[in-house]
Amino acid sequence: SDHSLVYPSSPDSIDWPSHYPAFVNQRPSFADIGCGFGGLLITLAPQFPDTLIIGLEIRVQVTQYVQDRITALRATTDNYQNVSVIRANAMKFLPNFFQKASLTALFFLFPDPHFKTRKHKARIISPTLLAEYAYVLAPGGIVYTITDVEDLAQWMRAHLDAHPLFQFVEEEELRQEGKGPILDAVYSSTEEGQKVERNAGEKWLACFRRIEVKRIN
Ligand code: SAM
Repeated sequence: SDHSLVYPSSPDSIDWPSHYPAFVNQRPSFADIGCGFGGLLITLAPQFPDTLIIGLEIRVQVTQYVQDRITALRATTDNYQNVSVIRANAMKFLPNFFQKASLTALFFLFPDPHFKTRKHKARIISPTLLAEYAYVLAPGGIVYTITDVEDLAQWMRAHLDAHPLFQFVEEEELRQEGKGPILDAVYSSTEEGQKVERNAGEKWLACFRRIEVKRIN
């Protein structure tokens, strides 16, 4: 449960230098929602050394584990200065964490499926939350979703497709834009993704671009 969580009143109230001591006046542009044990964060950090990457995770001990993992890595190499984790319920007050149009990538990797219909409102992709994701993403920014649950794949795809600010983008197109390393990490860098591989499960990827709306006056 998240009753003990304290929310920042705004992105400015977050002590970002404590997360990224080596970076001044820079804010995260990649956010991994429900980062779990941090496989994506740890894989992407050295590949994008100039990009600040943050994981949001609701479980206390899992968040602590990721924090310890990053601390240990920082102690042995110069890398990983650009990655950190925050304990948070990402379904609440996301705009208090990230400024409008500040993110270029938002990751939802193997999110909890919440199978029962009465629990669908607990899903991390919903019409209300999509409005928040659109708000924090910069135009051109990408939402990466992947799951091994077919029903959830259809759910995420349908909701993102229906939203006017998101446009489906083919994996091949993203690879041509140079986002291949990100996609490879999305498929197989996380603990959950690796578990699916061990069980020879199927994976459904769906990526969407945050589009810019032209105002007609
Ligand atoms: N993305 C990771 C991976 O691929 O290995 C973890 C997948 S795991 C099935 C889902 C994770 O999302 C769990 O670690 C869970 O604690 C976290 N989570 C669930 N609801 C959340 C929320 N509202 N805010 C932040 N994290 C959440």
